[in-house]
Amino acid sequence: MQALESKISTAGRVLGSDILKVDSFLNHQIDPELMWAMGQDFAQHFAQAGITKVLTVESSGIAPAVMTGLALNVPVVFARKSKSRILAEEAYLADVYSYTKESQQTIRVDQRFLSKNDRLLLIDDFLANGQALLGLKSLADQAGATIVGTGIVIEKSFQPGRQAAAKAGLNNIYSLARIAAFENGQVVFDQTAAE
Ligand code: 5GP
Repeated sequence: MQALESKISTAGRVLGSDILKVDSFLNHQIDPELMWAMGQDFAQHFAQAGITKVLTVESSGIAPAVMTGLALNVPVVFARKSKSRILAEEAYLADVYSYTKESQQTIRVDQRFLSKNDRLLLIDDFLANGQALLGLKSLADQAGATIVGTGIVIEKSFQPGRQAAAKAGLNNIYSLARIAAFENGQVVFDQTAAE
């Protein structure tokens, strides 16, 4: 998506060898116009998939997920993060290792909000090692829901998330921007088709 790539190039900041900071438009301050365009792009891509709900994880997935839900006219559910498994009532739980926080967290969704009749679109802001996606898949599986696709805002294709997700059966992954590498603090986009 051209507008997103331009924004990443002008406003993104590369930290170290593998982190992109996008807090000026994606996950702290939000650019609503860009977010809405991204939601419409996801909705258009998955328009024929019969999606009944969008599922994401707090907090950075919520904005793109809400825009997508709005464009598809379906509800949006976000998994909540908690430090432990205590206090979980009637909830589906999954453990996720956080890439940026370098710690394990439990994510959970109230059982009332996912069902076996749901056809889910998973949405997240980044795809790195795939842990967040695998956690969301686990929640969907516990509910007996069907995952029909996954939308990612920024995929770092030099990391193994796509392969890990595919191995777990998540094949229909659509990313709006794919990053092949960070070179001298600059983002190099991956223009090859995702496998
Ligand atoms: P994964 O679970 O695929 O390893 O990592 C995905 C999660 O880690 C995303 O939900 C995102 O919050 C965070 N993340 C991974 N890589 C980056 C990055 O380069 N920049 C930012 N801001 N967050 C990232």
